[in-house]
Amino acid sequence: MGFKIKTKEEIEIMAEGGRRLGEILASLASEVRPGIGTAFFDTRSFALIKKAGCEPAFLNYRPTGAKKAYPATICVSINDVVVHGVPSKRVIEDGDIVSLDLGLKYKGWYVDAAVSVGAGKLDTKKYKLIAAAKNALELGIGQAMPGKTLGDIGCAIEKFVKQERFSIVEGLTGHGIGRELHEEPAVFNFGKPGKGEPLKVGMVIAIEPMISAGGAKIRQLQDDSYAIADGSLAAHFEHTIAITENGPRVLTK
Ligand code: MG
Repeated sequence: MGFKIKTKEEIEIMAEGGRRLGEILASLASEVRPGIGTAFFDTRSFALIKKAGCEPAFLNYRPTGAKKAYPATICVSINDVVVHGVPSKRVIEDGDIVSLDLGLKYKGWYVDAAVSVGAGKLDTKKYKLIAAAKNALELGIGQAMPGKTLGDIGCAIEKFVKQERFSIVEGLTGHGIGRELHEEPAVFNFGKPGKGEPLKVGMVIAIEPMISAGGAKIRQLQDDSYAIADGSLAAHFEHTIAITENGPRVLTK
């Protein structure tokens, strides 16, 4: 099918792009605090991407289901907004959960990653939600090796998130990545062990658990972003991972 296998050389290029992305995203995440406007992150990420010799992947990208091309270099999604939050005049407040999702292109290859961080003081439930999304990603990554399947990844994520009594957000998935930002296959955050596409050396996928403290349904907002329909809080973590003979290799560290 459309599942594109990458060579070792191509994966090395993606790893270099991913390393640059990882540094940029960590730097941006460290800037999250109450009182800062979300537009700051767009300006800053654009500057850092350029400085790193890369191109923004999201600017002018039109995801399936969006009414218009994406107008910024980064997604800043706050509280009940899960993904695709557009930087704006909105100012981050104490206790907000801020999810930063960033993609870039380096030497013709895309990489994609996301983190959720708290601004100021968070209550225990918010910390738990963020930690659960982060741990779910780690568990999913742990299955990303030859001999396993996409179902194994989804199952590991789903099982843990349910155990933590949070919900897997419906209708949003991870994806293959490479010459295109979004390639086949869809990487679901749920699944059955041993089912789905078998994982092979040279596959590169973005695994991205998106979880909710309440309902699993989403609704699309004016700016094309997706929020939890019942207004519950959300968290999102993402890495780009190569399947290698030695197991999962996280490219976006
Ligand atoms: Mg992604």
